[in-house]
Amino acid sequence: MGDLKDDKQKKIWEIVSIVKLASLLFSGMVFLRYFFKGNTIAEVTVDTNYSFISFFVVILILLSVYFIWSMATIKKIDSKYTNIVQIIENLVFILFFIIVIFYSGKNTSDYKFLFLFIIITSTLQQGMKQGMLVASISSIFILSLDLIMGAPNVQVNQFFENDLILSGVFILTAWPLEFYVRIEGEHIKKLEGLANEDGLTGLYNHRFFYDALEGIMKTCEKENNLVAMILIDIDYFKIYNDMNGHQMGDEVLKLVAFILKNSFSKDDVVARYGGEEFVIVLPNTSEEDAIKQAERLRKKIEVTYFNGEENQPNGKLTVSIGTSIYPSKAKNAVELFKSADDALYRAKFFDKNRVESYTSILEELKIDTEGEHIDIITSIKTLISVINAKDKYTYGHVERVVIYSRLLADKLKLNEKNKKELIYGAYMHDIGKINIPKEILNKNMPLTPDEWEIMKQHSVNGVEIIKSVESLKEIAPLILYHHERYDGNGYPDNLKGKDIPYLVRMLTVVDCFDAMTSSRPYNIRKTYKEAIEELKRCSGKQFDKEIADSFIEVIRENENRIGNVDD
Ligand code: GH3
Ligand code: MG
Ligand code: MG
Repeated sequence: MGDLKDDKQKKIWEIVSIVKLASLLFSGMVFLRYFFKGNTIAEVTVDTNYSFISFFVVILILLSVYFIWSMATIKKIDSKYTNIVQIIENLVFILFFIIVIFYSGKNTSDYKFLFLFIIITSTLQQGMKQGMLVASISSIFILSLDLIMGAPNVQVNQFFENDLILSGVFILTAWPLEFYVRIEGEHIKKLEGLANEDGLTGLYNHRFFYDALEGIMKTCEKENNLVAMILIDIDYFKIYNDMNGHQMGDEVLKLVAFILKNSFSKDDVVARYGGEEFVIVLPNTSEEDAIKQAERLRKKIEVTYFNGEENQPNGKLTVSIGTSIYPSKAKNAVELFKSADDALYRAKFFDKNRVESYTSILEELKIDTEGEHIDIITSIKTLISVINAKDKYTYGHVERVVIYSRLLADKLKLNEKNKKELIYGAYMHDIGKINIPKEILNKNMPLTPDEWEIMKQHSVNGVEIIKSVESLKEIAPLILYHHERYDGNGYPDNLKGKDIPYLVRMLTVVDCFDAMTSSRPYNIRKTYKEAIEELKRCSGKQFDKEIADSFIEVIRENENRIGNVDD
Protein backbone atom coordinates (compact mmCIF):
# COMPACT_ATOMS: atom_id res chain seq x y z
CA MET A 1 0.00 0.00 0.00
CA GLY A 2 2.73 2.45 1.00
CA ASP A 3 5.12 1.15 -1.65
CA LEU A 4 4.76 4.22 -3.81
CA LYS A 5 5.32 6.55 -0.88
CA ASP A 6 8.28 4.62 0.53
CA ASP A 7 9.85 4.50 -2.87
CA LYS A 8 9.47 8.23 -3.31
CA GLN A 9 10.79 8.92 0.19
CA LYS A 10 13.87 6.80 -0.42
CA LYS A 11 14.64 8.54 -3.69
CA ILE A 12 14.28 11.95 -2.06
CA TRP A 13 16.63 10.87 0.72
CA GLU A 14 19.21 9.73 -1.78
CA ILE A 15 19.12 13.06 -3.61
CA VAL A 16 19.09 15.04 -0.37
CA SER A 17 22.11 13.13 0.93
CA ILE A 18 24.03 13.93 -2.23
CA VAL A 19 23.08 17.63 -1.99
CA LYS A 20 24.19 17.72 1.65
CA LEU A 21 27.42 16.05 0.77
CA ALA A 22 28.05 18.55 -2.04
CA SER A 23 27.31 21.44 0.31
CA LEU A 24 29.82 20.05 2.80
CA LEU A 25 32.41 19.74 0.08
CA PHE A 26 31.88 23.33 -1.05
CA SER A 27 32.04 24.71 2.43
CA GLY A 28 35.07 22.52 3.19
CA MET A 29 36.83 24.12 0.25
CA VAL A 30 35.84 27.61 1.38
CA PHE A 31 37.01 26.76 4.84
CA LEU A 32 40.38 25.55 3.60
CA ARG A 33 40.90 28.59 1.45
CA TYR A 34 40.33 31.04 4.29
CA PHE A 35 41.96 28.95 6.96
CA PHE A 36 45.26 29.02 5.11
CA LYS A 37 44.89 32.44 3.51
CA GLY A 38 47.50 33.94 5.81
CA ASN A 39 50.20 31.90 4.08
CA THR A 40 51.51 33.59 0.97
CA ILE A 41 53.46 31.46 -1.51
CA ALA A 42 56.70 32.59 0.02
CA GLU A 43 55.53 31.72 3.48
CA VAL A 44 54.30 28.22 2.62
CA THR A 45 56.80 25.96 4.25
CA VAL A 46 57.01 22.21 4.03
CA ASP A 47 55.34 22.21 7.41
CA THR A 48 52.25 24.23 6.40
CA ASN A 49 52.02 22.30 3.15
CA TYR A 50 51.98 19.10 5.17
CA SER A 51 49.29 20.33 7.52
CA PHE A 52 47.25 21.57 4.53
CA ILE A 53 47.27 18.08 2.98
CA SER A 54 46.50 16.33 6.25
CA PHE A 55 43.64 18.77 6.88
CA PHE A 56 42.28 18.00 3.42
CA VAL A 57 42.54 14.24 4.02
CA VAL A 58 40.71 14.56 7.35
CA ILE A 59 37.87 16.44 5.62
CA LEU A 60 37.67 13.79 2.91
CA ILE A 61 37.52 11.02 5.51
CA LEU A 62 34.81 12.85 7.44
CA LEU A 63 32.84 13.33 4.23
CA SER A 64 33.10 9.64 3.40
CA VAL A 65 31.95 8.68 6.89
CA TYR A 66 28.99 11.02 6.53
CA PHE A 67 28.18 9.59 3.13
CA ILE A 68 28.17 6.00 4.40
CA TRP A 69 26.13 6.96 7.45
CA SER A 70 23.48 8.81 5.45
CA MET A 71 23.14 5.96 2.93
CA ALA A 72 22.71 3.51 5.80
CA THR A 73 19.97 5.60 7.41
CA ILE A 74 17.95 5.56 4.15
CA LYS A 75 17.18 1.92 4.87
CA LYS A 76 15.70 2.81 8.25
CA ILE A 77 13.55 5.76 7.26
CA ASP A 78 10.73 4.65 9.53
CA SER A 79 12.79 4.27 12.67
CA LYS A 80 11.37 6.25 15.58
CA TYR A 81 14.62 8.14 16.09
CA THR A 82 14.68 9.47 12.53
CA ASN A 83 13.19 12.81 13.50
CA ILE A 84 15.59 13.51 16.34
CA VAL A 85 18.57 12.43 14.24
CA GLN A 86 17.47 14.80 11.48
CA ILE A 87 17.09 17.73 13.86
CA ILE A 88 20.58 17.11 15.26
CA GLU A 89 21.92 16.76 11.73
CA ASN A 90 20.36 20.09 10.72
CA LEU A 91 21.86 21.80 13.76
CA VAL A 92 25.31 20.41 12.95
CA PHE A 93 25.02 21.68 9.40
CA ILE A 94 23.90 25.14 10.54
CA LEU A 95 26.80 25.25 12.97
CA PHE A 96 29.23 24.21 10.29
CA PHE A 97 27.97 26.88 7.88
CA ILE A 98 28.19 29.47 10.66
CA ILE A 99 31.85 28.55 11.19
CA VAL A 100 32.53 28.77 7.47
CA ILE A 101 30.87 32.19 7.26
CA PHE A 102 32.87 33.32 10.27
CA TYR A 103 36.10 32.30 8.66
CA SER A 104 35.21 33.72 5.26
CA GLY A 105 34.57 37.29 6.38
CA LYS A 106 31.69 37.25 8.87
CA ASN A 107 29.14 39.88 7.75
CA THR A 108 31.07 40.48 4.53
CA SER A 109 31.25 36.77 3.63
CA ASP A 110 30.25 35.75 0.11
CA TYR A 111 29.05 32.38 1.30
CA LYS A 112 25.89 33.18 3.23
CA PHE A 113 23.93 31.41 0.49
CA LEU A 114 25.27 28.09 1.86
CA PHE A 115 22.26 28.06 4.19
CA LEU A 116 20.07 27.46 1.13
CA PHE A 117 21.35 23.88 0.98
CA ILE A 118 20.14 23.00 4.43
CA ILE A 119 16.87 24.92 3.96
CA ILE A 120 16.08 22.91 0.82
CA THR A 121 17.08 19.57 2.26
CA SER A 122 15.30 20.01 5.58
CA THR A 123 12.10 21.15 3.82
CA LEU A 124 12.17 18.16 1.52
CA GLN A 125 12.77 15.72 4.33
CA GLN A 126 10.81 17.11 7.24
CA GLY A 127 8.29 19.49 5.76
CA MET A 128 7.40 23.14 6.15
CA LYS A 129 7.86 23.57 9.91
CA GLN A 130 11.45 22.41 9.94
CA GLY A 131 12.23 24.18 6.67
CA MET A 132 10.84 27.48 7.99
CA LEU A 133 12.67 27.04 11.27
CA VAL A 134 15.99 26.51 9.51
CA ALA A 135 15.25 29.48 7.18
CA SER A 136 14.44 31.69 10.18
CA ILE A 137 17.54 30.68 12.13
CA SER A 138 19.69 31.31 9.07
CA SER A 139 18.06 34.72 8.41
CA ILE A 140 18.36 35.81 12.03
CA PHE A 141 22.01 34.78 12.03
CA ILE A 142 23.03 36.69 8.92
CA LEU A 143 21.00 39.78 9.84
CA SER A 144 22.34 39.86 13.41
CA LEU A 145 25.84 39.45 12.07
CA ASP A 146 25.29 42.59 9.97
CA LEU A 147 23.97 44.50 12.94
CA ILE A 148 26.69 43.39 15.35
CA MET A 149 29.77 43.22 13.13
CA GLY A 150 29.11 45.87 10.50
CA ALA A 151 30.87 49.23 10.82
CA PRO A 152 28.33 51.82 11.77
CA ASN A 153 26.10 53.37 9.12
CA VAL A 154 27.64 52.54 5.75
CA GLN A 155 28.45 48.89 6.16
CA VAL A 156 25.36 48.01 8.17
CA ASN A 157 23.09 49.46 5.52
CA GLN A 158 24.94 47.97 2.60
CA PHE A 159 25.09 44.36 3.86
CA PHE A 160 21.84 44.51 5.80
CA GLU A 161 19.90 45.39 2.68
CA ASN A 162 21.45 42.54 0.70
CA ASP A 163 20.91 40.10 3.52
CA LEU A 164 17.30 41.16 3.93
CA ILE A 165 16.78 40.07 0.33
CA LEU A 166 18.69 36.85 1.01
CA SER A 167 16.44 36.15 4.03
CA GLY A 168 13.45 36.64 1.76
CA VAL A 169 14.96 34.13 -0.64
CA PHE A 170 15.43 31.67 2.24
CA ILE A 171 11.80 31.90 3.29
CA LEU A 172 10.51 31.88 -0.28
CA THR A 173 12.53 28.77 -1.02
CA ALA A 174 11.12 26.80 1.89
CA TRP A 175 7.51 27.80 1.40
CA PRO A 176 6.73 26.81 -2.24
CA LEU A 177 8.98 23.79 -1.98
CA GLU A 178 7.02 22.45 0.96
CA PHE A 179 3.80 23.26 -0.86
CA TYR A 180 4.93 21.23 -3.82
CA VAL A 181 6.03 18.30 -1.65
CA ARG A 182 2.69 18.33 0.17
CA ILE A 183 0.62 18.40 -3.04
CA GLU A 184 2.72 15.55 -4.37
CA GLY A 185 2.11 13.59 -1.16
CA GLU A 186 -1.64 14.14 -1.40
CA HIS A 187 -1.57 13.12 -5.01
CA ILE A 188 0.17 9.87 -4.18
CA LYS A 189 -2.34 9.23 -1.41
CA LYS A 190 -5.21 9.74 -3.82
CA LEU A 191 -3.64 7.46 -6.40
CA GLU A 192 -3.03 4.83 -3.76
CA GLY A 193 -6.65 5.11 -2.69
CA LEU A 194 -7.82 4.60 -6.28
CA ALA A 195 -5.43 1.71 -6.83
CA ASN A 196 -6.65 -0.05 -3.68
CA GLU A 197 -10.33 0.55 -4.17
CA ASP A 198 -12.91 -1.50 -5.98
CA GLY A 199 -14.58 0.83 -8.48
CA LEU A 200 -18.12 -0.51 -8.07
CA THR A 201 -18.47 -0.95 -4.31
CA GLY A 202 -15.80 1.35 -2.87
CA LEU A 203 -14.49 -1.53 -0.75
CA TYR A 204 -10.85 -2.54 -0.87
CA ASN A 205 -9.98 -4.61 -3.91
CA HIS A 206 -8.35 -7.98 -4.35
CA ARG A 207 -4.84 -6.48 -4.64
CA PHE A 208 -5.10 -4.49 -1.44
CA PHE A 209 -6.62 -7.44 0.38
CA TYR A 210 -3.50 -9.55 -0.17
CA ASP A 211 -1.17 -6.71 0.84
CA ALA A 212 -3.18 -6.04 3.98
CA LEU A 213 -3.50 -9.72 4.84
CA GLU A 214 0.25 -10.15 4.64
CA GLY A 215 0.80 -7.13 6.92
CA ILE A 216 -1.81 -8.25 9.45
CA MET A 217 -0.46 -11.81 9.52
CA LYS A 218 3.05 -10.54 10.13
CA THR A 219 2.04 -8.35 13.07
CA CYS A 220 -0.23 -10.97 14.59
CA GLU A 221 2.45 -13.63 14.22
CA LYS A 222 4.92 -11.43 16.08
CA GLU A 223 2.45 -10.68 18.85
CA ASN A 224 1.02 -14.21 19.00
CA ASN A 225 -2.45 -13.01 18.07
CA LEU A 226 -5.25 -14.70 16.15
CA VAL A 227 -6.41 -13.71 12.67
CA ALA A 228 -9.90 -14.73 11.56
CA MET A 229 -11.15 -14.75 7.98
CA ILE A 230 -14.72 -14.56 6.72
CA LEU A 231 -15.42 -15.40 3.09
CA ILE A 232 -18.81 -14.48 1.62
CA ASP A 233 -20.44 -15.51 -1.64
CA ILE A 234 -23.87 -14.41 -2.83
CA ASP A 235 -26.21 -17.34 -3.45
CA TYR A 236 -27.63 -17.93 -6.91
CA PHE A 237 -26.32 -14.60 -8.12
CA LYS A 238 -26.18 -15.77 -11.68
CA ILE A 239 -29.92 -16.39 -11.51
CA TYR A 240 -30.44 -12.91 -10.03
CA ASN A 241 -28.54 -11.36 -12.94
CA ASP A 242 -30.41 -13.44 -15.46
CA MET A 243 -33.78 -12.44 -14.01
CA ASN A 244 -33.11 -8.78 -13.22
CA GLY A 245 -30.21 -7.73 -15.43
CA HIS A 246 -26.63 -6.86 -14.60
CA GLN A 247 -27.41 -3.30 -13.61
CA MET A 248 -29.68 -4.41 -10.79
CA GLY A 249 -27.08 -7.04 -9.98
CA ASP A 250 -24.57 -4.22 -9.52
CA GLU A 251 -26.99 -2.46 -7.16
CA VAL A 252 -27.16 -5.62 -5.05
CA LEU A 253 -23.37 -5.75 -4.90
CA LYS A 254 -23.31 -2.12 -3.73
CA LEU A 255 -25.92 -2.71 -1.05
CA VAL A 256 -24.19 -5.85 0.21
CA ALA A 257 -20.93 -3.87 0.30
CA PHE A 258 -22.66 -1.12 2.27
CA ILE A 259 -23.95 -3.64 4.81
CA LEU A 260 -20.49 -5.18 5.11
CA LYS A 261 -18.82 -1.81 5.59
CA ASN A 262 -21.17 -1.00 8.44
CA SER A 263 -20.93 -4.38 10.13
CA PHE A 264 -17.24 -4.49 10.95
CA SER A 265 -14.78 -2.39 12.90
CA LYS A 266 -12.25 -0.13 11.27
CA ASP A 267 -9.41 -2.51 12.13
CA ASP A 268 -11.00 -5.19 9.99
CA VAL A 269 -10.24 -5.27 6.28
CA VAL A 270 -13.38 -5.60 4.16
CA ALA A 271 -12.65 -6.31 0.51
CA ARG A 272 -14.40 -7.39 -2.66
CA TYR A 273 -12.47 -10.49 -3.58
CA GLY A 274 -14.07 -11.22 -6.92
CA GLY A 275 -17.33 -10.80 -8.82
CA GLU A 276 -19.82 -11.56 -6.05
CA GLU A 277 -17.37 -12.69 -3.40
CA PHE A 278 -16.29 -10.66 -0.42
CA VAL A 279 -13.64 -11.28 2.20
CA ILE A 280 -13.09 -9.88 5.67
CA VAL A 281 -9.88 -10.16 7.67
CA LEU A 282 -10.36 -9.71 11.40
CA PRO A 283 -7.17 -9.24 13.41
CA ASN A 284 -7.17 -10.31 17.08
CA THR A 285 -10.47 -12.14 16.75
CA SER A 286 -11.28 -15.60 18.05
CA GLU A 287 -12.99 -18.21 15.94
CA GLU A 288 -16.17 -18.05 18.03
CA ASP A 289 -16.35 -14.30 17.59
CA ALA A 290 -15.80 -14.55 13.86
CA ILE A 291 -18.56 -17.15 13.54
CA LYS A 292 -20.89 -14.96 15.62
CA GLN A 293 -20.20 -11.93 13.46
CA ALA A 294 -20.61 -13.99 10.29
CA GLU A 295 -23.96 -15.34 11.52
CA ARG A 296 -25.15 -11.81 12.39
CA LEU A 297 -24.16 -10.67 8.91
CA ARG A 298 -25.90 -13.60 7.23
CA LYS A 299 -29.12 -12.75 9.08
CA LYS A 300 -28.81 -9.07 8.26
CA ILE A 301 -28.56 -9.81 4.54
CA GLU A 302 -31.38 -12.34 4.74
CA VAL A 303 -33.76 -9.76 6.22
CA THR A 304 -32.66 -6.89 3.98
CA TYR A 305 -34.97 -6.34 1.04
CA PHE A 306 -33.28 -6.41 -2.37
CA ASN A 307 -35.31 -5.39 -5.42
CA GLY A 308 -36.45 -8.43 -7.36
CA GLU A 309 -35.33 -10.96 -4.76
CA GLU A 310 -38.73 -12.69 -4.90
CA ASN A 311 -37.53 -14.50 -8.02
CA GLN A 312 -34.58 -16.14 -6.26
CA PRO A 313 -34.84 -19.92 -5.73
CA ASN A 314 -35.53 -19.49 -2.00
CA GLY A 315 -37.56 -16.30 -2.36
CA LYS A 316 -34.89 -13.97 -1.04
CA LEU A 317 -31.36 -12.88 -1.66
CA THR A 318 -28.94 -14.65 0.67
CA VAL A 319 -25.25 -15.30 1.15
CA SER A 320 -23.18 -18.30 2.16
CA ILE A 321 -20.23 -17.79 4.46
CA GLY A 322 -17.08 -19.73 5.31
CA THR A 323 -14.77 -18.91 8.20
CA SER A 324 -11.34 -20.00 9.31
CA ILE A 325 -8.72 -18.97 11.80
CA TYR A 326 -4.96 -18.52 12.01
CA PRO A 327 -2.91 -20.16 13.47
CA SER A 328 -4.95 -23.12 14.73
CA LYS A 329 -6.49 -24.03 11.37
CA ALA A 330 -4.00 -22.54 8.93
CA LYS A 331 -0.28 -21.95 9.08
CA ASN A 332 -0.06 -19.04 6.66
CA ALA A 333 -2.07 -16.60 4.57
CA VAL A 334 -2.55 -19.01 1.67
CA GLU A 335 -3.83 -21.77 3.96
CA LEU A 336 -6.08 -19.34 5.78
CA PHE A 337 -7.79 -18.35 2.56
CA LYS A 338 -7.92 -21.92 1.30
CA SER A 339 -9.51 -23.19 4.51
CA ALA A 340 -12.11 -20.38 4.58
CA ASP A 341 -12.85 -21.27 0.94
CA ASP A 342 -13.29 -24.94 1.88
CA ALA A 343 -15.71 -23.91 4.60
CA LEU A 344 -17.59 -21.72 2.11
CA TYR A 345 -17.80 -24.65 -0.27
CA ARG A 346 -19.42 -26.70 2.49
CA ALA A 347 -21.86 -23.88 3.29
CA LYS A 348 -22.85 -23.78 -0.40
CA PHE A 349 -23.27 -27.50 -0.55
CA PHE A 350 -25.53 -27.57 2.47
CA ASP A 351 -28.52 -25.58 1.40
CA LYS A 352 -26.62 -22.25 1.05
CA ASN A 353 -27.64 -19.26 3.23
CA ARG A 354 -25.54 -20.58 6.09
CA VAL A 355 -22.25 -20.13 7.93
CA GLU A 356 -19.72 -22.97 8.07
CA SER A 357 -16.40 -22.92 9.88
CA TYR A 358 -13.46 -24.88 8.62
CA THR A 359 -12.86 -28.32 10.02
CA SER A 360 -10.04 -30.43 8.80
CA ILE A 361 -10.54 -34.18 8.76
CA LEU A 362 -6.79 -34.58 8.80
CA GLU A 363 -6.37 -32.35 11.83
CA GLU A 364 -8.85 -34.60 13.67
CA LEU A 365 -6.93 -37.60 12.44
CA LYS A 366 -3.67 -36.12 13.72
CA ILE A 367 -5.05 -36.21 17.24
CA ASP A 368 -5.41 -40.00 16.93
CA THR A 369 -1.97 -40.42 15.39
CA GLU A 370 1.32 -40.99 17.12
CA GLY A 371 4.57 -39.04 16.84
CA GLU A 372 6.45 -39.47 13.60
CA HIS A 373 3.38 -40.50 11.63
CA ILE A 374 1.94 -37.03 11.94
CA ASP A 375 4.31 -36.02 9.14
CA ILE A 376 2.77 -38.63 6.90
CA ILE A 377 -0.70 -37.25 7.60
CA THR A 378 0.60 -33.84 6.58
CA SER A 379 1.98 -35.35 3.38
CA ILE A 380 -1.38 -36.96 2.70
CA LYS A 381 -2.96 -33.54 2.88
CA THR A 382 -0.47 -32.28 0.30
CA LEU A 383 -1.09 -35.33 -1.89
CA ILE A 384 -4.81 -34.72 -1.87
CA SER A 385 -4.39 -31.10 -2.88
CA VAL A 386 -2.03 -32.20 -5.67
CA ILE A 387 -4.65 -34.69 -6.90
CA ASN A 388 -7.31 -32.00 -6.82
CA ALA A 389 -5.07 -29.74 -8.87
CA LYS A 390 -4.21 -32.51 -11.33
CA ASP A 391 -7.70 -33.84 -11.81
CA LYS A 392 -9.79 -30.82 -12.63
CA TYR A 393 -12.94 -32.88 -13.04
CA THR A 394 -12.98 -34.17 -9.49
CA TYR A 395 -12.77 -30.77 -7.81
CA GLY A 396 -14.90 -30.97 -4.72
CA HIS A 397 -15.43 -34.71 -5.23
CA VAL A 398 -13.59 -35.66 -2.05
CA GLU A 399 -15.43 -33.02 -0.03
CA ARG A 400 -18.80 -34.19 -1.29
CA VAL A 401 -18.04 -37.88 -0.75
CA VAL A 402 -17.10 -37.01 2.86
CA ILE A 403 -20.34 -35.07 3.36
CA TYR A 404 -22.49 -37.86 1.89
CA SER A 405 -20.61 -40.46 3.96
CA ARG A 406 -21.36 -38.55 7.15
CA LEU A 407 -25.07 -38.45 6.29
CA LEU A 408 -25.16 -42.12 5.34
CA ALA A 409 -23.24 -43.12 8.49
CA ASP A 410 -25.88 -41.37 10.58
CA LYS A 411 -28.69 -42.98 8.62
CA LEU A 412 -27.25 -46.46 9.15
CA LYS A 413 -26.45 -45.62 12.78
CA LEU A 414 -22.76 -46.49 12.63
CA ASN A 415 -20.89 -46.29 15.91
CA GLU A 416 -18.36 -43.44 16.33
CA LYS A 417 -15.37 -45.62 15.49
CA ASN A 418 -16.84 -46.91 12.24
CA LYS A 419 -18.13 -43.50 11.30
CA LYS A 420 -14.64 -42.05 11.69
CA GLU A 421 -13.15 -44.85 9.62
CA LEU A 422 -15.68 -44.30 6.86
CA ILE A 423 -14.98 -40.58 6.82
CA TYR A 424 -11.20 -40.98 6.75
CA GLY A 425 -11.59 -43.60 4.04
CA ALA A 426 -13.88 -41.30 2.06
CA TYR A 427 -11.28 -38.57 2.36
CA MET A 428 -8.42 -40.71 1.14
CA HIS A 429 -10.04 -43.21 -1.19
CA ASP A 430 -8.50 -41.70 -4.35
CA ILE A 431 -5.06 -40.99 -2.92
CA GLY A 432 -3.44 -43.53 -5.26
CA LYS A 433 -4.37 -41.27 -8.18
CA ILE A 434 -1.25 -39.29 -7.38
CA ASN A 435 0.70 -41.74 -9.59
CA ILE A 436 -1.65 -41.52 -12.55
CA PRO A 437 -0.60 -39.17 -15.34
CA LYS A 438 -2.66 -36.01 -15.75
CA GLU A 439 -3.37 -36.91 -19.38
CA ILE A 440 -5.17 -40.08 -18.31
CA LEU A 441 -7.06 -38.41 -15.45
CA ASN A 442 -8.33 -35.62 -17.68
CA LYS A 443 -8.72 -37.52 -20.95
CA ASN A 444 -12.00 -36.59 -22.59
CA MET A 445 -12.43 -39.83 -24.51
CA PRO A 446 -12.86 -43.38 -23.25
CA LEU A 447 -9.58 -44.82 -21.98
CA THR A 448 -7.67 -47.45 -23.99
CA PRO A 449 -7.30 -50.89 -22.32
CA ASP A 450 -3.71 -50.01 -21.34
CA GLU A 451 -4.71 -46.69 -19.85
CA TRP A 452 -7.54 -48.40 -18.03
CA GLU A 453 -5.04 -50.80 -16.44
CA ILE A 454 -3.00 -47.84 -15.21
CA MET A 455 -6.14 -46.17 -13.85
CA LYS A 456 -7.12 -49.32 -11.96
CA GLN A 457 -3.79 -49.32 -10.16
CA HIS A 458 -4.85 -46.41 -8.00
CA SER A 459 -6.54 -48.54 -5.34
CA VAL A 460 -3.44 -50.69 -4.82
CA ASN A 461 -1.13 -47.64 -4.97
CA GLY A 462 -3.29 -45.83 -2.42
CA VAL A 463 -2.78 -48.58 0.14
CA GLU A 464 0.98 -48.47 -0.48
CA ILE A 465 1.00 -44.79 0.45
CA ILE A 466 -0.76 -45.18 3.79
CA LYS A 467 0.40 -48.62 4.88
CA SER A 468 3.15 -47.42 7.19
CA VAL A 469 0.79 -45.31 9.29
CA GLU A 470 -0.50 -47.35 12.19
CA SER A 471 -3.60 -45.21 12.73
CA LEU A 472 -4.64 -45.64 9.08
CA LYS A 473 -4.46 -49.43 9.05
CA GLU A 474 -8.19 -49.79 9.53
CA ILE A 475 -9.01 -47.74 6.49
CA ALA A 476 -6.77 -49.66 4.06
CA PRO A 477 -9.70 -51.86 2.87
CA LEU A 478 -11.71 -48.74 2.03
CA ILE A 479 -8.96 -47.56 -0.28
CA LEU A 480 -8.15 -50.98 -1.70
CA TYR A 481 -11.69 -52.19 -2.38
CA HIS A 482 -13.73 -49.11 -3.19
CA HIS A 483 -14.04 -50.29 -6.81
CA GLU A 484 -15.19 -53.82 -5.96
CA ARG A 485 -18.71 -54.67 -7.12
CA TYR A 486 -21.37 -56.57 -5.24
CA ASP A 487 -21.60 -59.10 -8.10
CA GLY A 488 -17.85 -59.80 -8.00
CA ASN A 489 -16.98 -57.99 -11.24
CA GLY A 490 -15.01 -55.17 -9.66
CA TYR A 491 -11.28 -54.75 -9.03
CA PRO A 492 -8.63 -55.43 -7.79
CA ASP A 493 -9.62 -58.76 -6.12
CA ASN A 494 -13.07 -59.53 -7.57
CA LEU A 495 -14.53 -59.69 -4.07
CA LYS A 496 -18.20 -60.53 -3.98
CA GLY A 497 -21.24 -59.72 -1.82
CA LYS A 498 -20.69 -59.70 1.92
CA ASP A 499 -16.98 -60.50 1.40
CA ILE A 500 -16.66 -56.83 0.66
CA PRO A 501 -16.46 -55.07 4.04
CA TYR A 502 -19.61 -53.19 5.04
CA LEU A 503 -17.99 -49.75 5.17
CA VAL A 504 -16.51 -50.32 1.72
CA ARG A 505 -19.94 -51.12 0.32
CA MET A 506 -21.18 -47.86 1.76
CA LEU A 507 -18.32 -45.89 0.26
CA THR A 508 -18.87 -47.45 -3.17
CA VAL A 509 -22.47 -46.23 -3.30
CA VAL A 510 -21.56 -42.73 -2.20
CA ASP A 511 -18.52 -42.47 -4.49
CA CYS A 512 -20.46 -43.64 -7.55
CA PHE A 513 -23.40 -41.36 -6.81
CA ASP A 514 -21.12 -38.33 -6.78
CA ALA A 515 -19.30 -39.49 -9.91
CA MET A 516 -22.67 -39.75 -11.68
CA THR A 517 -23.88 -36.34 -10.57
CA SER A 518 -20.75 -34.37 -11.32
CA SER A 519 -19.21 -33.61 -14.70
CA ARG A 520 -16.61 -36.10 -15.78
CA PRO A 521 -14.41 -36.13 -18.89
CA TYR A 522 -16.59 -38.49 -20.91
CA ASN A 523 -19.73 -38.62 -18.82
CA ILE A 524 -22.66 -36.33 -19.11
CA ARG A 525 -23.68 -35.21 -15.64
CA LYS A 526 -26.79 -37.01 -14.41
CA THR A 527 -29.53 -35.21 -12.52
CA TYR A 528 -30.17 -36.43 -8.98
CA LYS A 529 -33.32 -38.15 -10.21
CA GLU A 530 -31.43 -39.97 -12.97
CA ALA A 531 -28.68 -40.92 -10.53
CA ILE A 532 -31.23 -42.38 -8.11
CA GLU A 533 -32.68 -44.41 -10.98
CA GLU A 534 -29.18 -45.64 -11.81
CA LEU A 535 -28.55 -46.64 -8.18
CA LYS A 536 -31.79 -48.61 -8.23
CA ARG A 537 -30.96 -50.23 -11.58
CA CYS A 538 -27.55 -51.35 -10.34
CA SER A 539 -28.68 -52.48 -6.88
CA GLY A 540 -27.68 -56.09 -6.28
CA LYS A 541 -25.24 -55.90 -9.19
CA GLN A 542 -22.83 -53.08 -8.53
CA PHE A 543 -24.21 -52.04 -5.15
CA ASP A 544 -25.47 -53.62 -1.96
CA LYS A 545 -29.22 -53.13 -2.33
CA GLU A 546 -29.92 -52.31 1.31
CA ILE A 547 -27.21 -49.70 1.44
CA ALA A 548 -28.25 -48.19 -1.91
CA ASP A 549 -31.85 -47.93 -0.67
CA SER A 550 -30.75 -46.19 2.53
CA PHE A 551 -28.63 -43.78 0.56
CA ILE A 552 -31.53 -42.96 -1.76
CA GLU A 553 -33.51 -42.11 1.39
CA VAL A 554 -30.65 -39.89 2.58
CA ILE A 555 -30.69 -38.04 -0.72
CA ARG A 556 -34.45 -37.58 -0.61
CA GLU A 557 -34.37 -36.41 3.02
CA ASN A 558 -31.72 -33.84 2.22
CA GLU A 559 -33.33 -32.83 -1.03
CA ASN A 560 -33.54 -29.19 -0.05
CA ARG A 561 -29.89 -29.17 1.04
CA ILE A 562 -28.34 -30.52 -2.09
CA GLY A 563 -30.70 -29.24 -4.73
CA ASN A 564 -33.99 -30.51 -6.06
CA VAL A 565 -33.91 -34.27 -6.57
CA ASP A 566 -36.51 -34.00 -9.31
CA ASP A 567 -34.45 -31.55 -11.35
P1 GH3 B 1 -23.81 -20.01 -5.96
O1 GH3 B 1 -25.06 -19.91 -5.18
O2 GH3 B 1 -23.32 -21.41 -6.03
O3 GH3 B 1 -22.78 -19.06 -5.50
O4 GH3 B 1 -24.21 -19.64 -7.45
P2 GH3 B 1 -23.91 -18.28 -8.19
O5 GH3 B 1 -24.83 -18.19 -9.35
O6 GH3 B 1 -23.93 -17.13 -7.27
O7 GH3 B 1 -22.40 -18.50 -8.54
P3 GH3 B 1 -21.53 -18.34 -9.82
O8 GH3 B 1 -20.13 -18.22 -9.32
O9 GH3 B 1 -21.82 -19.45 -10.78
O10 GH3 B 1 -21.97 -16.99 -10.49
C1 GH3 B 1 -21.47 -15.78 -10.10
C2 GH3 B 1 -22.16 -14.75 -10.93
O11 GH3 B 1 -21.84 -13.46 -10.46
C3 GH3 B 1 -21.71 -14.74 -12.37
C4 GH3 B 1 -21.89 -13.32 -12.80
O12 GH3 B 1 -23.06 -13.20 -13.57
C5 GH3 B 1 -22.08 -12.56 -11.51
N1 GH3 B 1 -21.17 -11.43 -11.39
C6 GH3 B 1 -19.85 -11.44 -11.18
N2 GH3 B 1 -19.37 -10.18 -11.13
C7 GH3 B 1 -20.40 -9.33 -11.30
C8 GH3 B 1 -20.54 -7.91 -11.34
O13 GH3 B 1 -19.58 -7.15 -11.20
N3 GH3 B 1 -21.79 -7.41 -11.53
C9 GH3 B 1 -22.86 -8.23 -11.69
N4 GH3 B 1 -24.06 -7.67 -11.87
N5 GH3 B 1 -22.76 -9.56 -11.66
C10 GH3 B 1 -21.57 -10.13 -11.47
MG1 MG C 1 -19.01 -17.19 -6.84
MG1 MG D 1 -22.48 -17.05 -5.79
